[in-house]
Amino acid sequence: MRRRLDSKRSAAQRGEAELAAILQRIDGRSYNAYREVKGRFELRDFTLYVDHIQGDPFAAPSKLRARVPMASAKLPEELIEGRVRRGAMEDFLARQVRDAVRASGPLPRGPGSGKSGLIRIDAGDQAVIQRTALSISPDWVEARLEVGLPAAGRRVLGSMAEELLLQALPRVIRGALLWQSVPQPRARRFIECVENQEYIRSQLDTLGLVAFVGNGAILPRESGASDRPLPGAHAVPFRSPPSLELRIDLPNPVDHEPGASRQLSGMGIPRGVTLIVGGGYHGKSTLLRALERGVYPHVPGDGREYVVSSPKLVKIRAEDGRFVSQVDIQSFIGDLPGGRSTAAFCSDDASGSTSQAANIVEAIEAGARGLLLDEDTSATNFMVRDARMQALVHKRDEPITPFLDRVRELYDVQGVSTVLVMGGCGDYFDVADRVILMREYRPEDATAEAQRIAREISAGRSTEGRSSSSTGGERIPLAQSFDPTRGRRRIKIDAKSHDLLLYGSDAIDLRAVEQLLEASQTRAVGLAIHLASERFMDGHACLREILDQLDRLLDAEGLDVLDPFRRGEEHPGNLARPRRYEIAAAINRLRRLRVARAGPGTRNGVTVP
Ligand code: ADP
Ligand code: MG
Repeated sequence: MRRRLDSKRSAAQRGEAELAAILQRIDGRSYNAYREVKGRFELRDFTLYVDHIQGDPFAAPSKLRARVPMASAKLPEELIEGRVRRGAMEDFLARQVRDAVRASGPLPRGPGSGKSGLIRIDAGDQAVIQRTALSISPDWVEARLEVGLPAAGRRVLGSMAEELLLQALPRVIRGALLWQSVPQPRARRFIECVENQEYIRSQLDTLGLVAFVGNGAILPRESGASDRPLPGAHAVPFRSPPSLELRIDLPNPVDHEPGASRQLSGMGIPRGVTLIVGGGYHGKSTLLRALERGVYPHVPGDGREYVVSSPKLVKIRAEDGRFVSQVDIQSFIGDLPGGRSTAAFCSDDASGSTSQAANIVEAIEAGARGLLLDEDTSATNFMVRDARMQALVHKRDEPITPFLDRVRELYDVQGVSTVLVMGGCGDYFDVADRVILMREYRPEDATAEAQRIAREISAGRSTEGRSSSSTGGERIPLAQSFDPTRGRRRIKIDAKSHDLLLYGSDAIDLRAVEQLLEASQTRAVGLAIHLASERFMDGHACLREILDQLDRLLDAEGLDVLDPFRRGEEHPGNLARPRRYEIAAAINRLRRLRVARAGPGTRNGVTVP
């Protein structure tokens, strides 16, 4: 006992010399000797915390933190004040660390097996998303890193490790986290740009908009595989049609030319039903995709930094093959062949139309206030049923009420807006509040023209919307659906990519959840579900209430709380914040999901299937 206390005390005082001595001593020993460097070291510019040592050079890298006291980092107070600025600074500094690692050239790895010599930080890409990679408190700045401790075969390379941890890493940290070495004008511009975007987002409701697209925005991407902007010469910058244009006063200049304006003009997309029409290849889907991504801020230079969407917009698409558990899709799909009711629709292999209906109902259940749809990824029979088809296939033989006959009611009754890309069916002119026509990548306001055409050329079809009464009641996800164990592991939750979540022994396919961008978000989705299942799923709380509780917890305590193994301040893993809609999407796609239902409007009368 006495010895443990002593070693603890000395551990608290270990410095550079002690770290070097340990590394020399374990040189050439088997890899697990690295365990001796676990703990805390006071280095010259920062405190190094070695929280987790990888099992072997090929395993997931070790987890370290570098914590720089604010007294040395000296970040200007005004640039880390408030949630938005601090978040933007955190994001910027994580990128600085990543750039500094890249700039430092090949790191010492010697004969280097496995991940030897790697230093990595989970910095963001084009979008700015709250993440655990870098954390700023009033007293310090902390980078959460992954490091591959050097090995030859499976033997410790002590001198290499010394070079890595005592030279390369401190160089990176000094170059990236001390304000004196940060490119300050760029940092300021980054933070002000993110703040401008969040300011616009905060104004959307007041302005009656679901989205804003700034003039000059570059929407197209380099390629289907790259999220970077299409290079300047090829891209047609966005320019609002005059009738939809508005000007917004921003807290910061739009760019950093001296005397740059604090005003930005662009296209407002009002609440209601908006169609994006136009010929094939004229930029419709590109605009919609920018709106999908516009729920997140973007980095300066992305081209979409002034495409700002309501955070409550959810992309909807057909997703045949998906699992569905007890979703009330009656308003879109009536009784199925054989008289099967769709008030609590279940499927292990939903069709295009039923999956799309379930996606809409679930999004609204989770709190979506707007839907984004593209004809390219929608089920045709879900979207339209034209006059001739109505004449041939009698309504009593067609369970589907097409979206065309529901989209108005969604807005008029439930206040849920829609932005729909539709180049193929003019029947939608009858139900649209406005029509944006894309011509050679330039939007025009074609509302009046489309309305005139709708008056002059009848669609000839009869409206099919019977009034839709939802009878299902709220869905209550049951905690026992979410078993995170796998083999001997108590909790096995991981994401190798953004679209595949491994949860216990289940794999959740998220390929159709298009607003989930990063594996770190997907990992956080899994951990959020686990936390919710332990704390909030009590057999009474409905999904919406559970998501509310999660949002409140993450707002108050940050993402670090999601790490189920964390006791103190250890590295919480690489996490980025998902929206509630993406958390709900994963819950809804877990094939073991079981839900109970509360009677409509009550919290009693729970029926368990
Ligand atoms: P649509 O949905 O109307 O068929 P897309 O949005 O898919 O068209 O765009 C077709 C092609 O045009 C894509 O390769 C896209 O990158 C490119 N594109 C879209 N918008 C622009 C633009 N503003 N400037 C240059 N190219 C663009
Ligand atoms: Mg398209």
